[in-house]
Amino acid sequence: MIKRIMGSIKMKITVVIVLTFMFALQLIGANFITQTEKKLIGTFQSDRQMQMDFLKNSLSPILEEHTQEKKLPAHELTAQEEINQLLLDFSGSGITEVFVVDRNFVILGTSDNIQESTVGKISNDQDLRKSVIQGQQTAKQVIDQQLNARRWKIVSPVETKKQPGEIIGAIVMESDIETVYTQVSEITWMFLSSSFIAIILSGILANFVSSALTEPIKEMQLQTKKIADGNYSGEVTVYGHDDLSVLGMLINDLSNEVESAQKSVDAERRRLDSVLSNMTDGVIATNRRGKVVVANAMAAQLLNVERADLLDHDILDVLELNDQLELKDLFKQKRDVLIRRKTARGTVSLRISFALIQSNRGIINGTVCVLHDVTEQEQIEAERKEFVSNVSHELRTPLTSMRSYIEALIDGAWKDEELAPKFLEVAQSETDRMIRMIQDLLHLSRIDSGRSELDLEIIDMNQMLTQIIQRFRILLDSEEYKGKNYQIKEEIVDEIVFAEIDLDRMTQVIDNIINNAIKYSPDGGTITVRMETMNQHVLMSIQDEGMGIPAEDLDKIFTRFYRVDRARSRAMGGTGLGLAISKEVIAQHGGQIWAKSIEEKGTTVYIDLPYIPFEDEEW
Ligand code: ADP
Repeated sequence: MIKRIMGSIKMKITVVIVLTFMFALQLIGANFITQTEKKLIGTFQSDRQMQMDFLKNSLSPILEEHTQEKKLPAHELTAQEEINQLLLDFSGSGITEVFVVDRNFVILGTSDNIQESTVGKISNDQDLRKSVIQGQQTAKQVIDQQLNARRWKIVSPVETKKQPGEIIGAIVMESDIETVYTQVSEITWMFLSSSFIAIILSGILANFVSSALTEPIKEMQLQTKKIADGNYSGEVTVYGHDDLSVLGMLINDLSNEVESAQKSVDAERRRLDSVLSNMTDGVIATNRRGKVVVANAMAAQLLNVERADLLDHDILDVLELNDQLELKDLFKQKRDVLIRRKTARGTVSLRISFALIQSNRGIINGTVCVLHDVTEQEQIEAERKEFVSNVSHELRTPLTSMRSYIEALIDGAWKDEELAPKFLEVAQSETDRMIRMIQDLLHLSRIDSGRSELDLEIIDMNQMLTQIIQRFRILLDSEEYKGKNYQIKEEIVDEIVFAEIDLDRMTQVIDNIINNAIKYSPDGGTITVRMETMNQHVLMSIQDEGMGIPAEDLDKIFTRFYRVDRARSRAMGGTGLGLAISKEVIAQHGGQIWAKSIEEKGTTVYIDLPYIPFEDEEW
């Protein structure tokens, strides 16, 4: 507490002013008192000297007469009486004692009544004797032992006027110099007491002055603290144009500057936050020790962790790259790193790019990692590779078989009337299959590139299905299917169902599905074609009693080139693209296609299409 008070500027200023004032007073006082003492003592001594000179002048003729022992006229006083008379006049007025001796040191008279008995006796005052013998005046301060007071003692020899140098007696004068000292100490006390009052007053004044100085400083202190705490509302009061007022103005300016800078920093941060949180890529920033300092929500989502589990954690731990990289490698890392993470939606592949955070002077302050989800890209790439390999394989197989037949023909089989036509037939069917495949591929490629537009018409689905079934019934009655017991049953809703479709494409899709139903039902069986309507949707299904599809293959049969039994499909002239095309065509119509199957029992393929129910009046 005391330290704090002493540490305050206000206290310091007060103490400095008071100390300076005290010092000045001390100096002035010491000088003044010394000078005064000197002056008073000087005046006292010169006054006494004057009195002594006067006495000497007055006593000289008397002592001269006394020395010559002249007879005095009767009316005149004796020398002794005259001396006493003269000395009596000097008693009082500060002179404590004056006595006169002749040249034999016989006391001729004294101003002190008590000492009157000493008259006529020889004085044994040493100072007196010395002075008379040497013929010189002595003056000194002595102590009155009885009263313990200081006395000024002048001993002056008296010479005859006629013969200078001849001593005829001496005068001893003691005066009370103690009064002068008393006066000096009184003056000192007066000075000290008024100094004390002056110091107290100066303290009060200094307090006022320092308050006037420190109040604005205190206000500035509070305001700067407020600024530091982020509160820019207040203002320092500016009183005038002095240095402190200028400082106050500068603090107000600073507050405004800091406020606007803070606002723009906040706006910038908000902008950055919103950019980071709306990014589809994950962003993680670290400090130079590799601890995560910033991570957006997407980074946490991609890494399948909570955001809190990222912040303040080691980046290499977070990315699980501890066994591959060290922190220093991370700061040098120029190439992207690919990692895989298990999430709720399966394994995701993340490509991580690194960028250094460097200061102007090139000091590395951390790194920024951008996490990009490349799962889909990887999948597409894998599919593309698989597709190219499938196409090559699918084309190579018929070409290889054709080549072997053609070689056989060249080697002489052409001469064989029985074999040659068979070989040529195989070559023709393989060529047909290849043409079909290429047509299917071209069709798919057109759909993929969006070049395959539908030729939409409003078609009665009921009528379309009936016609297709009719066509297949004729086919199944043909020579080709003789001996196979295929039945086509129809369960079609008895109403006119209009839908906006591309008739050729839809026919192609349904043809393909019924064809499959026949192809994959080697023992014949009933194929049931159904159609019903519900909630503005028309649901068609083609059910067979064939070999069925294993559950694990069921969702794959709509992908390109996928076949449950490759050899069988190929033998049946299939390309493995039929259902893939069907799926695309149905999707183009805004519908859905899927299959349900039980192995050895049969398969049902469903097509769901949006359908516009026509009101009677409209129609
Ligand atoms: P493909 O030309 O080989 O028939 P698809 O795309 O039409 O090609 O059919 C893909 C695969 O789905 C077929 O190879 C077959 O294994 C299986 N599949 C399709 N329909 C049926 C069905 N009705 N019964 C059993 N398997 C079927």
